[in-house]
Amino acid sequence: MARRKKIYEGKAKILYEGPEPGTIVQYFKDDATAFNAEKKDVIDGKGVLNNRLSEFFMTGLTQIGVPNHFIRRLNMREQLVRNCEIVPLEVIVRNYAAGTMSKRLGIAEGTQLPRPIVEYCYKDDSLGDPLVTEEHIAAFGWASQQDMDDILSLALRVNDFLSGMMLAVGIRLIDFKIEIGRVYEGDFQRLIVADEISPDSCRLWDIETGQKLDKDVFRRDLGNLTDAYSEVARRLGVLPQSNVTKPTLIN
Ligand code: C5P
Repeated sequence: MARRKKIYEGKAKILYEGPEPGTIVQYFKDDATAFNAEKKDVIDGKGVLNNRLSEFFMTGLTQIGVPNHFIRRLNMREQLVRNCEIVPLEVIVRNYAAGTMSKRLGIAEGTQLPRPIVEYCYKDDSLGDPLVTEEHIAAFGWASQQDMDDILSLALRVNDFLSGMMLAVGIRLIDFKIEIGRVYEGDFQRLIVADEISPDSCRLWDIETGQKLDKDVFRRDLGNLTDAYSEVARRLGVLPQSNVTKPTLIN
């Protein structure tokens, strides 16, 4: 079989040319990076978990009519997705203060925000993905006003969906990041959710204990990252619940 053409290699994923026009194969690596790749490691099994979790979330989004790039999972580490032009923005939605927002504004981590707050960062690793405003986005032509309306609506729909999904399994969705892709259908263009949705790009805290079940475990050396991601996957039913005690007549 001919070798597939690599299109792009990022910090956590590799993109290959897909088998049909307009498709891409997204391969999930085990590499973990933080602080703009200043901290790096290989975490056994992370790619497999993120492939499964991203499939799970994107499939759920499709079921509630939120357009996204996911077509089907191919194997343990790869999924087939729609090829799209990535809008050069990281779209962050926050429900509780944490991370850079806490640092920037001096708000204690875990403080509930009065309403979900959407932030935009310009996707450029060499600049450290700086926070930008809609003024920058419009002035530099990264997205039109109509695009921004659509992006905001996608981001808030993803937030409602993910928050509810997580709440049902005892997890608080603190914040997350999505990327948006542009696809062309005849004369029309449409914006869809792209890239991935996984504990690499969300903050997830156990509601009871506050335990972190996301990439902060790696960023802040809080324990085993795959254990944390496996816990999320198990609660959502994405992984077999092997360690759950079956009810018996006496318990
Ligand atoms: O670091 P910060 O607090 O701005 O991150 C907000 C959210 O966006 C977190 O869930 C983080 O995991 C995610 N994020 C990401 N990729 C980045 C920056 C942030 O997935 N490059």
